[in-house]
Amino acid sequence: MDYDAIVIGAGISGLYQLYRLRELGMKVRVLEAGTGVGGTWYWNRYPGARFDSESYSYAYSFSKELLEEWNWKEHFAPQPETLSYLNHVADKFDLRRDIQFKSRVAAAHYQDETSSWDVTLEDGSKYSTRFLITAIGPLSAPTMPRIEGVESFKGQSCHTARWPHEGVDFAGKRVAVIGTGATGVQTIQEVVKTAGHLTVFQRTPNWCAPLHNGKISADEMREIRAGYPEMFKRCQETFACFLHTPDPRATTEVTPEEREAFFEKLYGDKGFGIWQGNFRDVLVDKTANGLLSDFVARKIRSRVKDQKVAEKLIPKNHGFGTRRVPLETKYYEVYNQPNVELVDINETPIERITPNGIKTSDTERAFDIIIYATGFDAITGSFDRIDIRGAQGQRLKDKWQGGPKTYLGVQVEGFPNMLMLMGPHTALGNIPRSIEYNVEWVTGLIRYMREHNLTRVDARPEGVKSWTDHVIALGQGLLSNEVDSWMTGINRNVEGKQVRTVARYSGSAPAYRARCNAVAADGYRELALS
Ligand code: NAP
Repeated sequence: MDYDAIVIGAGISGLYQLYRLRELGMKVRVLEAGTGVGGTWYWNRYPGARFDSESYSYAYSFSKELLEEWNWKEHFAPQPETLSYLNHVADKFDLRRDIQFKSRVAAAHYQDETSSWDVTLEDGSKYSTRFLITAIGPLSAPTMPRIEGVESFKGQSCHTARWPHEGVDFAGKRVAVIGTGATGVQTIQEVVKTAGHLTVFQRTPNWCAPLHNGKISADEMREIRAGYPEMFKRCQETFACFLHTPDPRATTEVTPEEREAFFEKLYGDKGFGIWQGNFRDVLVDKTANGLLSDFVARKIRSRVKDQKVAEKLIPKNHGFGTRRVPLETKYYEVYNQPNVELVDINETPIERITPNGIKTSDTERAFDIIIYATGFDAITGSFDRIDIRGAQGQRLKDKWQGGPKTYLGVQVEGFPNMLMLMGPHTALGNIPRSIEYNVEWVTGLIRYMREHNLTRVDARPEGVKSWTDHVIALGQGLLSNEVDSWMTGINRNVEGKQVRTVARYSGSAPAYRARCNAVAADGYRELALS
């Protein structure tokens, strides 16, 4: 066998998994499609890309030395800072020697006779491994819109997640942005700073809230560093590992004045507080959610001068926080600039991309640059891109028809020795916090197997049924599960992703960890080990 473990992906999960498996003395290879480490932060180089979680809460917590030596420069670090952080991690722990770049995995087939996996790269190279660990990310398969003529455009165009390393110069150019999710919003507010003219093509407006970013002074960084133990402890206790956690009060329990003051405070606070630290019922109760949505709608109306444009920017088909909230810096003010146009493509649909620009039902606009901020085939999409076949040659894609079925989000029955990091049905939230836990649990399982001379681990059908049913039950009553978004498995640009599925664990992170810890403490008896 070539390797004890192959890890697919050198992002935040893959790097940490490599570090932990090396400690077990294993022969590990990380296969990475890109030319460098960083995963999400390697690929998403679009202008304005940055953290939406506080930099310090997003970093690795496992190494005291790393925490001591790394200084964050901004409360919400821009992509280049994060990428250099992850490069620093790779260098510090000498990770690169086990990472093979420019190695996109095309297929992984389980071998029943040897309890191992054969992994094939796009270039045809083949490797065998005992364990196959997927660290491929929930948002890593970018999707282009299904619009006719995309290939015919003569100017420059690209998807935000495939941004050219040399950057793009917008100075004086006519730029189009299609898509207004978290990525589109960050892109728009940055591109507008230099573009000659900007046109935003919006299909569904999203509820955005201010980021309130700022530089971190040396004194502040000292304070942050001194507070690390307490901060990481807090992240372990909150619902989704963010610094913010819901307020115990219900929205209508307080007077209208108190409510307004609380919303106002949250709107003025940094980061996800208004989403993750709001009244406890805003994401489950329609009345509560309506009150919050009204508040944010009033903010949008007050920030956008032209009220017709403001109305277009206010979502009408979903409430605040029922989709991922894009955090913004002067996003709404962008639409007050004379060189910016908002095109609501529900009113005037895009008919086609032409060699010169974009043709909507009413007119054709000429562009120099088209930016596709059109999102990802989320959660299962990164798995679908690889031909993964388990025992008896069954395909993972077939197994997950109608929605993923997993055991703790880590295993799939019939796919022995395949362990997923940030797979479907795991706690996402503040992702690096969830990743660290996920990696440590997987490492614990592998350690146990090695200590007990076990070579095969599979999920049991009853374990999968019980976890999948639990995940589905947890999602019931959540307003976000009644709305189309990547979080409910919808992507109108992908065949077969038109029906909502439950691919996300929406319970609390502490409950998830408690469940996984109990399985480990019980000697992994819920798993089929041999
Ligand atoms: P997204 O939320 O899925 O947004 C894609 C956008 O493209 C939507 O506005 C969508 O409209 C539009 N779109 C797709 N196909 C289209 C078409 N054919 N015609 C017109 N419009 C089309 O993707 P994203 O913005 O890349 O964000 C995905 C996730 O990545 C976020 O939710 C977040 O979790 C993560 N992210 C994180 C950060 C951060 O932490 N800093 C930053 C960016 C992204 P519809 O809504 O109508 O489908």
